[in-house]
Amino acid sequence: RLSTKEHDIVIIGGGPGGYVAAIKAAQLGYNTACVEKRGKLGGTCLNVGCIPSKSLLNNTQFYHQIKTDTKERGIEVSDVQINLGNLLKSKEKAVNSLTGGIEMLFKKNKVTYYKGNGSFIDEHSIKVDPIEGGEEAILKAKNIIVATGSEPTPFPGIEIDEKQIITSTGALSLTKIPKKMAVIGAGIIGLEMGSVWSRLGSEVTVLEYSPVIGGAGMDGEVAKSIQKILKKQGLDFKTNTKVLSGKVDGDLVKIEVEDVKSGKKEVLEADVLLVAVGRRPYVAGLNAETIGLEVDPKGRLVIDSEFKTKHPHIRVIGDVTFGPMLAHKAEEEGIAAVEYIKKGHGHVNYGNIPGVLYTHPEVGWVGKSEEDLKQAGIKYKVGKFPFIANSRAKTNLDTEGFVKFIIDAETERVLGVHIIGSNAGEMIAEAGLAIEYGASAEDIGRVCHAHPTLSEAFKEAALAAFDKPINF
Ligand code: FAD
Repeated sequence: RLSTKEHDIVIIGGGPGGYVAAIKAAQLGYNTACVEKRGKLGGTCLNVGCIPSKSLLNNTQFYHQIKTDTKERGIEVSDVQINLGNLLKSKEKAVNSLTGGIEMLFKKNKVTYYKGNGSFIDEHSIKVDPIEGGEEAILKAKNIIVATGSEPTPFPGIEIDEKQIITSTGALSLTKIPKKMAVIGAGIIGLEMGSVWSRLGSEVTVLEYSPVIGGAGMDGEVAKSIQKILKKQGLDFKTNTKVLSGKVDGDLVKIEVEDVKSGKKEVLEADVLLVAVGRRPYVAGLNAETIGLEVDPKGRLVIDSEFKTKHPHIRVIGDVTFGPMLAHKAEEEGIAAVEYIKKGHGHVNYGNIPGVLYTHPEVGWVGKSEEDLKQAGIKYKVGKFPFIANSRAKTNLDTEGFVKFIIDAETERVLGVHIIGSNAGEMIAEAGLAIEYGASAEDIGRVCHAHPTLSEAFKEAALAAFDKPINF
């Protein structure tokens, strides 16, 4: 007989949405369990997403800089080699220490961790089919949170083997540097992984159907600017390009593409083809249909504004439901969903979720783009400050990019901030704070920022939006 365990809250999925919800629920005094089938906690983000990609991005940038950028700093370096095995080991080390860390946090907070696949038997019961180290069980729960995440969207007709034709998962673990790499999709994942392999020596061509790169949310001016910068670094872009097919042919992959404007077709060759056309919600093995959970045409589990499904005690968060597929968005929802259970209210400000592209320089943005505001018919003013005029950027010999403020024409309230710069991902947090507190550009312009720092460019761009900058 299967053992039956009772819990106040059971969470299915141990990614950023699920594990954060589990810890918060336990902290609020609930008898909490989390079911995860991967064998490691942290989900896509820690295992095959944010964390391994940032390890590779950081270390390949370091390598690239040592190779190209030391002389003018007065450093003579010779014989710089890449050791791909050790590069991948360094990535694994970061991943393992972080996934292990969540397991410790589960113990510390007394979250029961079931290693296995969780599937619905009925509205209050979940069956755990164990993986190694797990136990078979039936979980009875008063409340359930589904956080099963997402998986790469397949490209119709292109078969993934994770060796020659790969998803982001394969791109994080290639054991040989491809001579030529083609990437379908100039979104965040395509640009980040394209940058990694380009820095390691691959000739990278990015194929993008739309005329612009960067994907949803990126301001048009910023997208154009980062495209130029990445092109200078060696990435080749074919925008307005429709991929028709991709097939392995011996050691090569042949990719047939069509120019969207002229209709001209050509066949490209690459050693590796990375398919990075987005991600789709993941519900396989959840048995959601047994309890009639609704799925929309994009495969997302349908919820209301309190994360509730048609069964009010079952909530859904993260990539498997609506909204941007980002780890920090999933985490915010994890907290809010648990707070709804505890207090009847919770809060996520969907107008204030930052996006970051971790190339070099980075791109960070939050709030509205110029395109958003034009579409909504809202009058705005723009203030910009280039890093070339920032003292710290100059000392760092790292002056590409700018900070761009978009403020309401009348009230001068900050509506959006868009940054290209080497630490844009960190700097964008200040913009998030400003938007959350309804700051005006003048509010920021009057805050003392340390000198010499890159964040002075942030303050100066705010000044430029409603008055004049000092240093430009
Ligand atoms: P997931 O992280 O996908 O976790 C879901 C978990 O549920 C998985 O571990 C899965 O095994 C488990 N699961 C599924 N079904 C079941 C079941 N039935 N029973 C038990 N367990 C189950 N986001 C950022 O914010 N910043 C970044 O820099 C960033 N970089 C990325 C880079 C790459 C290459 C990729 C692929 C993604 C990146 N993302 C990034 C996106 C980020 O990884 C996701 O938005 C985030 O992981 C979503 O969290 P989640 O908890 O909703 O789902």
